[in-house]
Amino acid sequence: MSAGGTLRLVLGDQLSHTLPSLRGLDPACDVVLMAEVMGEATYVPHHPQKIAFLFSAMRHFAGELRARGVVVDYVALEDEGNIGSLDGELRRAIEKHQPAQVELTFPGEWRVWKQMRDWQRTLPIPVEVREDDRFFCSISRFRAHAKGRRQMRMEFFYREMRRDHGVLLTQAGEPEGGQWNFDAENRKRLPKGLLPPPPFTVEPDAITTEVLALVARRFGQHFGSLEGFGYAVTAADATRALDHFIRHGLADFGDYQDAMAMGQDTLFHSILSPYLNAGLLDPRAAVAAAEKAYRQGKAPLNAVEGFIRQILGWREYVRGIYWLNMPEYANGNALSAHRPLPAFYWTGETDLNCLAQVIGQTRRTAYAHHIQRLMVTGNFALLLGVEPAQIEEWYLAVYLDAYEWVELPNVHGMVMFADGGYLASKPYAASGKYIHRMSDYCSRCRYDVKQTEGPDACPFNYLYWNFIAENAGALRGNPRMAMMYKGLDRMSAEKRAAVQRDAARFMAGLVAGYPAG
Ligand SMILES: Cc1cc2nc3c(=O)[nH]c(=O)nc-3n(C[C@H](O)[C@H](O)[C@H](O)COP(=O)(O)OP(=O)(O)OC[C@H]3O[C@@H](n4cnc5c(N)ncnc54)[C@H](O)[C@@H]3O)c2cc1C
Ligand code: SF4
Repeated sequence: MSAGGTLRLVLGDQLSHTLPSLRGLDPACDVVLMAEVMGEATYVPHHPQKIAFLFSAMRHFAGELRARGVVVDYVALEDEGNIGSLDGELRRAIEKHQPAQVELTFPGEWRVWKQMRDWQRTLPIPVEVREDDRFFCSISRFRAHAKGRRQMRMEFFYREMRRDHGVLLTQAGEPEGGQWNFDAENRKRLPKGLLPPPPFTVEPDAITTEVLALVARRFGQHFGSLEGFGYAVTAADATRALDHFIRHGLADFGDYQDAMAMGQDTLFHSILSPYLNAGLLDPRAAVAAAEKAYRQGKAPLNAVEGFIRQILGWREYVRGIYWLNMPEYANGNALSAHRPLPAFYWTGETDLNCLAQVIGQTRRTAYAHHIQRLMVTGNFALLLGVEPAQIEEWYLAVYLDAYEWVELPNVHGMVMFADGGYLASKPYAASGKYIHRMSDYCSRCRYDVKQTEGPDACPFNYLYWNFIAENAGALRGNPRMAMMYKGLDRMSAEKRAAVQRDAARFMAGLVAGYPAG
C-alpha cells in the first residue's frame, strides 16, 4: 500500500465480500486489516470450536481477498508484536501503513461500537463507520416500527417485514395460505423411526487443521471439545450447508421444530446461524431459497413459513431490540434474580438428564437448537432465579453463533424476563411436563417427571411452582400468567410448603462457579 490510501478493518463476524467497508476498495492503495486478538478471543471463555471457526473463517476470507489482488495485513494470534486488542492493532496498522482514513462497518456488539466511537474522536485521521446493511431491517427502520410502542411483539414486526420485502405473499399482497403464522402446526414430538438427516459437515483443510492445533494449545482449557470439528469456514461451503438443509431438512423443519431427542443433536434444524452471523451466508439467500422450495412444491407452507419467520422475524427483531435499547437493556433485572449459575453448566455433570444431554451436546458441538436453549438450560436458569448476567455470559461463551446483539435479547428478554416483558409477553417458565411432552429425556432420568414433591420428583416441577410463588409480586397481574396463578391458588397449603421446601433443599445442594481446569 502506498501511504494515503484507506485502511479497511474487517472484524471476525464481518466475513462478507459485500461488506460496506469493502465497497470502493482500491487495490492499488488500500489495505484490509484483519487481526486475531486475545482480547476478542477471551472476553468470555468462548467454546474452542467457536474460536477455531472464526480464526479459520478469517484466514480463508483473507486468502480470498488476496486472490483478488487485495493487500491484506493479517495479524495472526501468535505473530510477533500482536498487541492483543483491536484498538492496539488498529493503531499499529495506522503507524505502519500511514493511511489517509479508516473505513469500518458498524459492529455487532455494543462494547465494540463504543470503541469505534472512541476511534472517531482519538485517531489522528478520519474514521468512517458505515451502516451494516447485511440485514433486512436497518436500525432506523426498526426505530420507526418501535416508535410509540411500550411493548414490542415480534409478530407485528414480522408481518411488516413480510410486506416490506414481499416474502411469502400472494399476488394480492396477502400472506400465502391465508394466515401469517403456522406455528400451531409446528409442535410435534419426533416419532419413533423417523431419522433426521445427518448435519452438513466439512473435512478440515490444512488451514483449519493448523487453527485447530493453535486453539487446542491456547484455549484448550475453555469449556468445550474440539473433536470432530466439521463446520464450514468459507462462503462457498456455507452455501452448500444451505442447499443441504433445503434439500434434506426444510420439509420437516416445521413439524419437529420444537422436538428434542437423545442422540439427535440437530434434528431438522438448519445449523445456519454461525454462517449467517459471521457473514458467510446472506440471510436474503436463505429466505429466498426457502420460499423457492415452497413455490416449487418441495416443502410445505408450515415448514417454510416457520423457517422464514426465524430469520426474517426473530433474527431481525432481536437485533432491532438490542440496538434500540443498549446499553441500558443489559442492566435490567425485573425479577430480581441473584442466584449464582450452577457449576454444572460448565461441566455437564448433573443427574438431571435433560440438562446433562443439552450441556453435553453443547460441549461436544457448540450447538443446541432453539428449544433446547429456551426450554432446558434457559428455563432451568429462569426457575432457579440465576442472575441474568451470569447466564448471559454462559450463552455468549458456549455457542458457535453467539454475538451479543443476538444472544442478549434472547437470554435477557426471552429466557430470563429480565426486561420485564418488553420483548416477550410472559416468561417461558415450564415444569418438567413440557420437556416430557417434547422429548425422550425423561425416560432415562433418575427423577420422576410425574412427581411434584419429594426426593425423586423432577426438580423442574417443584422449581416451577416455587418460581410462580416467588415471583407473584411481579407476575400475578400479567393476564397471560392467570392460569398459573389459578393453579397456585388451588394448591393446598401443605403441598405449597412441600414444593417450596424441596426447591430450597435442591438449591442449597447446588455448587456454583467456573470449575478450575
Ligand atoms: C437462550 C437463547 C440464546 C440464544 N442465543 C443465540 C445466539 O447467541 N446466536 C444466535 O444466532 N441465535 C441464538 N438463539 C436463537 C436460536 O436458538 C438459534 O439461532 C438457533 O438455535 C440456531 O440454530 P439453527 O441455525 O439450526 O436454527 P434454525 O432452527 O434452523 O433456525 C433458522 C435460523 O433462524 C434464526 N433464528 C431462529 N431463532 C432465532 C432467535 N430467537 N433469535 C435470532 N435468530 C433466530 C437463526 O439465524 C437460525 O439459523 C438463542 C436462543 C435462545 C433461546
Ligand atoms: S424428569 Fe425432569 S430433570 Fe429428568 S429429564 Fe425429565 S424434565 Fe429433566
